[in-house]
Amino acid sequence: MKKYDNIVVGSGISGLTLALILGLNGRKVLLIEKAPQIGGSLARFWRKGLPFDTGFHFTGAFSEGGLLCDMLKVLGIEEEIEPVFLKEEGSMRFVYKKEGEVYDLPYGLDNLIAKLKEYFPSEEKGITKYFEMMERICNNTVTMDLRKISLAPEPIDEDFVSVDEVLDGLIKNQSLRGLLSAYCMCYGTMPAEASFANHSRVSLGLYQSVAYSGTCPHSFR
Ligand SMILES: Cc1cc2nc3c(=O)[nH]c(=O)nc-3n(C[C@H](O)[C@H](O)[C@H](O)COP(=O)(O)OP(=O)(O)OC[C@H]3O[C@@H](n4cnc5c(N)ncnc54)[C@H](O)[C@@H]3O)c2cc1C
Repeated sequence: MKKYDNIVVGSGISGLTLALILGLNGRKVLLIEKAPQIGGSLARFWRKGLPFDTGFHFTGAFSEGGLLCDMLKVLGIEEEIEPVFLKEEGSMRFVYKKEGEVYDLPYGLDNLIAKLKEYFPSEEKGITKYFEMMERICNNTVTMDLRKISLAPEPIDEDFVSVDEVLDGLIKNQSLRGLLSAYCMCYGTMPAEASFANHSRVSLGLYQSVAYSGTCPHSFR
């Protein structure tokens, strides 16, 4: 039997990153993958000669000081990936086909909040509270030091409350509820099941700035 310090199960981006960090810290690591190829959701697949990259289209936290930027530096691959930021004057379009409603939500947190209040003036208080809660959670989230192996930080109360439960207490308008929980699609969990804390951690970075990787030839442009 070979001996390993750590065994990592699953070679998606989480497992690959963890295995690499453990390796960089001098551990002997075994990475186990059940699929025939590594990469999990990020693995490229081909159809009729065309490559498809399912995972990495756009992301937040890419700016200097952001978590993704830090992670690329720790892994020593920051030079490989060139972030291309979407222009602040641009916006994300959300269409409710059945209701015939269209909402253009700008990038940048302040721009977004102002626009949401313009679209839904009667929900102003709830909108303010919603984003205050998100910012408080992100400010209170301890960023793990990727250079050291450490225990994950203790969970906070909002780790145990769903996005829907928070919205129930703050927002009445169904279209607005949809817009505020839309980024659940980025991590594939329904708002009734996603923890509000994790939703905040993913969404706030995306509200602040959105970038795609300029060096990934088939990313969304
Ligand atoms: C269509 C799509 C678009 C996306 N777009 C973006 C985007 O634009 N920006 C962005 O930031 N994110 C995006 N994501 C999300 C991102 O791709 C995922 O969050 C991320 O890749 C998940 O990585 P993971 O390592 O946590 O899990 P996975 O990638 O799911 O990896 C888990 C791995 O574990 C393996 N495994 C599971 N069980 C076992 C077992 N018992 N033994 C061995 N191996 C096992 C699986 O085979 C898999 O390889 C997108 C996801 C999808 C599906």
